[in-house]
Amino acid sequence: MVSEAVIRRLRDEIGSDRVVTSDDDVDGYRHDYWVLSHLVSWQGTYTDRPGAVVRPRSTADVQATVRLASETGTPVVPFGLGSGVCGGIRPDSSALLIDMSAMDRVRRIDTTNQVAFFDAGVNGLVAEEAVAEQGLTIGHWPQSIAVSSVGGWISTRAAGQFSTAYGGVEDMVHSIEVVLPDGDMVVLGKAPRAAAGPDLRHLFIGAEGTMGIVTGVALALHRQPEQREFRVYHTPSLAAGLEVQRQILQTGWLPPVMRQYDVRETRRTFRQWSTDAHGMLLMVHEGPAGRVAAETEAADALAGQGGLVRADDDVAAHWMQNRNHVVAWDEFFEQGLIVDTIEIAASWSAIEAVYDDVIAEVGAVDGVVSISAHSSHAYRTGVNLYFSFAARADDPTGLEAAYLECWHRVMEATARHGGGIAHHHGIGRIRRPYLVHDLGETGVTLLRTVHGAIDPKGLMNPGNLIPDA
Ligand SMILES: Cc1cc2nc3c(=O)[nH]c(=O)nc-3n(C[C@H](O)[C@H](O)[C@H](O)COP(=O)(O)OP(=O)(O)OC[C@H]3O[C@@H](n4cnc5c(N)ncnc54)[C@H](O)[C@@H]3O)c2cc1C
Repeated sequence: MVSEAVIRRLRDEIGSDRVVTSDDDVDGYRHDYWVLSHLVSWQGTYTDRPGAVVRPRSTADVQATVRLASETGTPVVPFGLGSGVCGGIRPDSSALLIDMSAMDRVRRIDTTNQVAFFDAGVNGLVAEEAVAEQGLTIGHWPQSIAVSSVGGWISTRAAGQFSTAYGGVEDMVHSIEVVLPDGDMVVLGKAPRAAAGPDLRHLFIGAEGTMGIVTGVALALHRQPEQREFRVYHTPSLAAGLEVQRQILQTGWLPPVMRQYDVRETRRTFRQWSTDAHGMLLMVHEGPAGRVAAETEAADALAGQGGLVRADDDVAAHWMQNRNHVVAWDEFFEQGLIVDTIEIAASWSAIEAVYDDVIAEVGAVDGVVSISAHSSHAYRTGVNLYFSFAARADDPTGLEAAYLECWHRVMEATARHGGGIAHHHGIGRIRRPYLVHDLGETGVTLLRTVHGAIDPKGLMNPGNLIPDA
């Protein structure tokens, strides 16, 4: 339990209305969007809750909260907008949960240097709309844009749907303001590039609340594109589509969106346009008109050489319109189903082996009724896969068992072929046991050492991201 004395002192320091403890006020902060937490909640057996929810209005409020937490040995769990899907947020009653959503100011938009400064709690769509009014774009379009915060983007190392041209969030960060676990504040990043030792911003990009609280974020912007064009092709095989993607990127073209759906997902998502045996590759090209014209022409030529057949570009328009749907987990639980997505990445040489292995291994799990994939983020060196699965069981215990087995098999199959176990959703609790596959034993030890130096009392979001020793 967070002691009454701590709550009283906090209220004195940052305002009595900024610290709440009643069930009604705290219930919505028990966990993030991780399906397994929702399953427990749905059963009505979720017992954990934060001891108090703190709603800072300023960086100074965050500093006061974290200082007091450090002094009294109270765990601190940051909460952006709670759209994380890996179990990064599961506070117990010993913890103060810091809800960042009241830190929602667009601080400044510098149109000359194309940088926008935000409080960390600003809603992603609000941030994008603010810069759009100036003819600019962040270029970061996660499916969760309307339900996630800019501080959450940094903290999970997020990647948006237009990442092939605009990059992941780590490519957009100009500077980060962070409150460290002792309450000190640091601003990292001030120039377009720096050769000033290791880039310390990366200690916090993807740290999932374990290294400090991100209170401010400055993102480099782009001008809004002059032209946008769609291209959609039928892919005779997964290999053929992947090969065309590789050729396009390695030739030097950069369509912001490149999504290739396997046959199962093509049938499910684009039923009206699909053929029986073919998958689909969908691309969005945007930028200066001349470049878009040249890029679409080159893409058409490379697709033709690779045996792809032009499909109806309305497929892409349909995807654009429906791309930010957020599913409600309960609808599946009520039907005796659990569903989830798992994103991984691998080199061009390894990705098909990962796909084949995962489809076979997950398909063999007791209760699995569906397993499929699409790629959604491509690079010169390789590509991601975004697997979707559904499993059926008689009761919640069976659903959880099938769910964990599916995750286990995807993690192990990916690692077996040399792939990376997490492309953009982060680690949280579900991937924590598998982080060693990406970092190795020595890398995990290094991460623990770095974390121990920054957060020696282990108070920042304990139980998340970093595997136990
Ligand atoms: C339907 C749906 C679609 C999604 N699509 C995408 C997608 O396309 N791309 C993608 O990358 N992700 C996606 N996600 C995952 C999720 O939206 C992202 O991880 C997002 O960046 C989380 O932001 P948030 O503000 O909701 O963070 P939260 O869920 O509140 O927190 C995420 C983690 O970061 C920590 N944290 C949050 N704010 C701070 C802060 N200010 N300082 C320090 N730590 C902090 C939390 O403690 C937690 O560990 C999707 C999620 C859903 C539900």
